[in-house]
Amino acid sequence: MTRRRALGAVIVMTFACSFAFVPAGPVAASRRNVSYSHTVAVAISDIQDFWVTTFPKLYGGRYDPIPPSRIFAGHPGVKLPRCNGERLSYRDVAENAFYCLHDNFIAYDDEHLFPDLYANVGPFAVALVLSHEFGHAVQDRAGVAADRSVEQELQADCFAGAWTDDVAENGGPVQYEPGDLEVALAALLEFRDAPGSSANDTSAHGSAFDRVNAFQDGFELGPARCASYETEPPLVVQLPFMNASDARQRGNVPAAKVIPLTVDLLNDFYAHVEPRYAPLSTRDISSFDSSKRSSIPTCGNSHLEVDAVKNRVFYCLDDGYIAFDEPFLQRVYEQIGDFGVATLIANPWATYVQTIQGIPGVGDNSLAAVLQADCYTGGWAAAFYNGYLSGGALSPGDLDETVMALLVYSRARGVSSDIPISFVRVQFFRQGFVSGYQSCGYDGIARDAAKI
Ligand SMILES: [Zn+2]
Repeated sequence: MTRRRALGAVIVMTFACSFAFVPAGPVAASRRNVSYSHTVAVAISDIQDFWVTTFPKLYGGRYDPIPPSRIFAGHPGVKLPRCNGERLSYRDVAENAFYCLHDNFIAYDDEHLFPDLYANVGPFAVALVLSHEFGHAVQDRAGVAADRSVEQELQADCFAGAWTDDVAENGGPVQYEPGDLEVALAALLEFRDAPGSSANDTSAHGSAFDRVNAFQDGFELGPARCASYETEPPLVVQLPFMNASDARQRGNVPAAKVIPLTVDLLNDFYAHVEPRYAPLSTRDISSFDSSKRSSIPTCGNSHLEVDAVKNRVFYCLDDGYIAFDEPFLQRVYEQIGDFGVATLIANPWATYVQTIQGIPGVGDNSLAAVLQADCYTGGWAAAFYNGYLSGGALSPGDLDETVMALLVYSRARGVSSDIPISFVRVQFFRQGFVSGYQSCGYDGIARDAAKI
C-alpha cells in the first residue's frame, strides 16, 4: 500500500500512498471556482508570509523565503537542481512533494499528485501539503536536527496546523472555510504510513492518528507548541504487528468476533470508571438492514424512518438498546477495519453511560453531549492501548481506523451545522485518549463546545 523510494537520507519527503477510502468533502465540490494554479501560487506566498512573521518570534533570526525560482513544478522533463549532490529527475518527484534540506528548494508533482489532490480532496489539501514542506524549510533554518525521525515529520504537520489556524483566525488570500479542516483530515489520511510500519523507519511520517494529533496540536496550541517538540516530543502510538499472522489479517479480528470482543472491552472499562454502571450484553445490541423497512426496530412509540437510521449505529433511549445498520457496519469492517466498527459501537455505548450519569442534552444529541461521548470513547481506547483491559490489544492502524470511522460516521449521522464536525469529534476523542477519561467532565466540554 505504501510507496517507498529511498532517495538518500537528506531529502525530507511526503510519501503518497494509495488508499481506498478517501471521502471527497462537500467543500471540495463547492470550491472548484478557485483555479488550481491560483491555489498553488497563493498558498506558497501566504505560507511564506506567515513564517516571515512567525519565525523570529519562535527562533529569533529571520526566515529567508525560498525564492520562486527554487520552487519547482514537476513535469516529465523538468530540470531540477541537484539535492546534496544527487541528480534528480521527474521520477523523483512523481506522486510526491519534497523539500531538499540545505540546498533549500521545494519540488512537487504538478502532473499528477497536486492536480489529483485538488480535484479529489479539495484545494486546501494542496495548500496543506505545501505547508508541511515549508515546515521542513523552517526546520532547516532553525537548525532542527535533520535525522528524518518521525518527530520531525510530525513537527512539520504541527507547523501546518499552526499555519491553518492563522488562516482560520485572520483570513488572508488563501480561501478557507471551516469545512477545510475536514479536507485536512482526509489529506492526512491519504498520506499516512501503512499500518504496522515502524516509527523508526527513516521514511516514516507517522500514522494518521499521530499526524492528526500533531496537526491539531499546531491548530489548537500554536507554533510554539510545535517548536517544543524537540524537548517535549508528541505522543507517537505507531505500533508494530505482533506476529506474521497478525500482519496477514492486518491486525483485524474476524468479523464475527468484533462485536462480542468490543462488548467485553466496554463492560470492563466502564465497570472501572463509573460506579453506577450496569453492564450490557450482546443481547442488548441488535442489527437491522436499512434497505428492508420491516427489519427496522421501533424505539419507544416511534417508528424510525429509513433516512434516520440508514448508515447509523444508535442508542434507543426509550428502550435502552443499541442497534446498527448491518450492511453499513459490514462495509466499515471491510473498508476501514475492526476498530472502525468498535469505535462506532463504543459511541452509542458512551451515550448509554451518559444516561446513567444524567448528562444534559443527551436526548437532543447536543454538541456537548456528542463530544463528551467521543471523549469517553478516547478514554476507553487509551485504557485498551495501555493494556488495562483484558481480552485484546490495540493493533497497528486501529487508531487510524477511529479517525476514518469518525470522518465517515459524522457525515453519515447528518449533523447539519457550519462546524467541521469530524475534525472536532476527532479532537475530543484525542482529548480522552491523551488525557484520559477523567478529563471528559461535562462542564469543561460544554464550555469548549460553546466556543466552537
Ligand atoms: Zn515531510
